[in-house]
Amino acid sequence: MAQASAAHDPVLDDLQHCRERLWINPKVTTFESVKTQLPLSFADIEEASARLERFAAYFQAVFPETAERAGMIESKLIRIDDGANAVADLLGAETPSQLLMKCDSHLPISGSIKARGGIYEVLQYAEQLAEAHGLLHEGIDYTCFDSAPFKALFAQHGIVVGSTGNLGLSIGIMSAKLGFKVTVHMSADAREWKKAMLRAKGVNVVEHTSDYSVAVAQGREEALATPGCHFVDDEDSKTLFLGYSVAALRLKQQLAAQQITVDAEHPLIVYLPCGVGGGPGGVAFGLKHVFGDAVHCFFAEPTHSPCMLLGMYSGLHNGISVQDIGLDNLTCADGLAVGRPSAFVGAVMEPLLDGLYTVNDDTLHALVKLMTDAEALSIEPSAAAGLPGFAWLQKASHETLAPIGLADHLANATHLAWATGGNMVPEEERAKYYALGEKALKAAWGIPR
Ligand SMILES: *Cc1c(COP(=O)(O)O)cnc(C)c1O
Repeated sequence: MAQASAAHDPVLDDLQHCRERLWINPKVTTFESVKTQLPLSFADIEEASARLERFAAYFQAVFPETAERAGMIESKLIRIDDGANAVADLLGAETPSQLLMKCDSHLPISGSIKARGGIYEVLQYAEQLAEAHGLLHEGIDYTCFDSAPFKALFAQHGIVVGSTGNLGLSIGIMSAKLGFKVTVHMSADAREWKKAMLRAKGVNVVEHTSDYSVAVAQGREEALATPGCHFVDDEDSKTLFLGYSVAALRLKQQLAAQQITVDAEHPLIVYLPCGVGGGPGGVAFGLKHVFGDAVHCFFAEPTHSPCMLLGMYSGLHNGISVQDIGLDNLTCADGLAVGRPSAFVGAVMEPLLDGLYTVNDDTLHALVKLMTDAEALSIEPSAAAGLPGFAWLQKASHETLAPIGLADHLANATHLAWATGGNMVPEEERAKYYALGEKALKAAWGIPR
């Protein structure tokens, strides 16, 4: 894909110039027609869900903040009416009749969506080791994972991960709690406070001067060279992916409890911030299994790191990086500063994803401020990326929406912005995000507030 061709290619041109845009995926198709060709099934999602249930007693015992949900690592689903007004106002859109927010920003233990996939993969490895060493039997109470024989076993094993920060937090906190030797390879953009927090918990933090892909590659190399060591491969792990997918089963219950109908006439449209793709991909994969064609999923990426959009649009998936088209992969959106998408997720999502859109850093900061003011919700910039989704669809033409079946039912839709992180952010960092939001509102929108 030569840079010279951009002038004739409006999508590539927008990507190269960091202009916010919506892209509809021409390859999206009906769920029924692809269901049997997918590499993972509903049974796999259910198995992951059952594993998390087995560990519920353990979580209740060692992480008291999970007690109110009986040891389930789950977040609230809330209506954000004031927030919806504020966002619509900012983006020159109409307030949607129903905008929900899924507050994974406030998931227990590690305060981000990574508390789903990351923790799940550590548990799966721990369970497999315990099983292989004869420590488990039918009906055993999983609080045993907090006992001396289990900790002694895990102390002989290592877990390694490469991360921009949040996955490192999840894997680091969970692995350290179980007693594993854990190493987190952090990319250059990872925040100081995340490294400090992990070191305080006894995690070995290795700092890199390069971006996410290199941190992952170094981690992979180290893990492969170390016997008895498990590498959590954020670019390729089906285990992580399944951990995320369980969110769909939980969301189904939450929607039902709030008497929100999801069917062909009342579509559910979900907007998910995307980095390498595992988190949003896993959730979307689960949602398609639960709601089929009644759910429409969109990924949101920073204008400086639109790796999944570029991979799907070009059809090259992980064969192209944002740097290849001249972008710097620098963004305030922690977790989304990824230059090359997961090959696995790109291929799985190609027939399932309705589209993607991009968001610039000013918009993200402004949205963080609006959510603080309107909803008293503290989210990090990446977590705000789902909020502009409804406005993109509102502004899209009938011809744009017809192929994805949304031309006639948009007015009845439930829009859901997936808030992916924020609760672990220290107070002084929050204040900085808020101030940058104020600045962006003044500079980019001329709103004196
Ligand atoms: C990691 C992360 C994402 C995206 O998840 P991927 O699996 O990297 O696509 C979104 N938001 C936040 C806050 C994250 O930490």
